[in-house]
Amino acid sequence: MARTVCISGAGIAGPALAYWLRGMGMRPTVIERAPQLRTGGWAVDVRGAAITVAERMGLAEAFRAASDNLRGLDLVDARGRTRAAAGTELTSSSPDDLEIRRTALSRTVFDAAQDGVEYVFGDSVTAVGDDGDRVRVSFAESAPRDFDLLVAADGLHSNVRRLVFGPEERYLRFLKAHVSIFDLPNRFGLDHKAVLHSDPGRTIGLYAGDPNGPAQAFLGFRSRAEAASRLPDAASRIRYLRARYSGMGWRAPEILDALDGTDDLYFDSIAQVRMEGWSKGRTVLLGDAAHCPSPLSGQGSSLALVGAYVLAGELAAAGGDHRRAFPAYEEAMRGFVRRNQAIATNGMPFLVPRDRVQILLRDAAVRLGPRLPALNRLSGGIRKAANAIGLKDYPLTASAAASGR
Ligand SMILES: Cc1cc2nc3c(=O)[nH]c(=O)nc-3n(C[C@H](O)[C@H](O)[C@H](O)COP(=O)(O)OP(=O)(O)OC[C@H]3O[C@@H](n4cnc5c(N)ncnc54)[C@H](O)[C@@H]3O)c2cc1C
Repeated sequence: MARTVCISGAGIAGPALAYWLRGMGMRPTVIERAPQLRTGGWAVDVRGAAITVAERMGLAEAFRAASDNLRGLDLVDARGRTRAAAGTELTSSSPDDLEIRRTALSRTVFDAAQDGVEYVFGDSVTAVGDDGDRVRVSFAESAPRDFDLLVAADGLHSNVRRLVFGPEERYLRFLKAHVSIFDLPNRFGLDHKAVLHSDPGRTIGLYAGDPNGPAQAFLGFRSRAEAASRLPDAASRIRYLRARYSGMGWRAPEILDALDGTDDLYFDSIAQVRMEGWSKGRTVLLGDAAHCPSPLSGQGSSLALVGAYVLAGELAAAGGDHRRAFPAYEEAMRGFVRRNQAIATNGMPFLVPRDRVQILLRDAAVRLGPRLPALNRLSGGIRKAANAIGLKDYPLTASAAASGR
């Protein structure tokens, strides 16, 4: 019976898994490279099966309280004139969908997964040795330790995946675009609203789910070559983004000026992770590390929450025997992941239109909104993908509810 579990990554998937494992009497240790919980990020969606998981975690109410109740989205031109406006029918596939800023989602899950969970910030796994009985894990800062299991929940560029499964080039499918998101002061008078401005191949936007808190800036652009990995530090990324967005209208100059004040810039390629298998010996991949669907799908966080539930559940059902649990977890998740990765490519013409024609078509589609059958089909497709898994009733304890958090 596995008891000690090392989880690399304190994003959404890592703490969600830790939450369930401690309820099973296991001892999770979460290693996070950042010095503290990462902030930033646009609103992410929690929908379909992920809402059922949130209910089973006893966190659905907390998620609802943290959700932004976004009232609408404006598409504006270079002079700030609204070309099309949409209500929530466009941003959600069902009235039950929750739109939560990533920072608030991550904080809620992290707060619920505290008692009995060890967190080590500012550290990273450097080597993994699996002798069949234990995994010996070495760290950049801490002394090496032995664990029963190792879980890679360290995102798109998973470090543990590289160490155990090989270089990421084998698994990453670059979708020829990049995204950057950062917090900035809300000097724009935005209230529960998102605004996007696009010119061919690049989009800049603002989001404010809480008029009293910071706003979030969004920069998305198409590019043939992957740039994020060539730009290792914040200064070079900021320079790159400034150059990439020069000459853009609307409030782009103000937004770009705010880049200098950010201390947690999220900048990454838009990519998917496609792998044949998610486990090797005592190591298993979870969340984006296993199957990043890309931000274009809007389903990364939902897959992470569902995956953590299924992995913990299969471990519980197998009495902690990873040889039975890991294949069962993959079997349960495969079809669900495939469906959600498939919806990603539909998002690109909307978020970052390629040319002026695509901008005009997008704006017209948004104006027509629910009257346009194609949009209804799109949100119907998202709804189906988000529910494309039958969640088993695993022998798990909802420790947040049990402890009254
Ligand atoms: C700061 C941030 C902002 C984001 N914003 C958005 C957004 O606006 N829209 C969207 O769709 N998706 C966004 N994402 C991605 C989204 O959170 C994931 O798709 C989804 O939640 C799946 O969660 P995950 O836990 O698998 O991965 P992630 O949420 O990416 O978490 C991975 C964690 O692992 C940590 N990590 C990375 N390398 C190491 C290492 N070597 N050692 C230890 N820890 C490591 C990271 O710091 C991070 O905390 C963002 C991710 C981050 C980290």
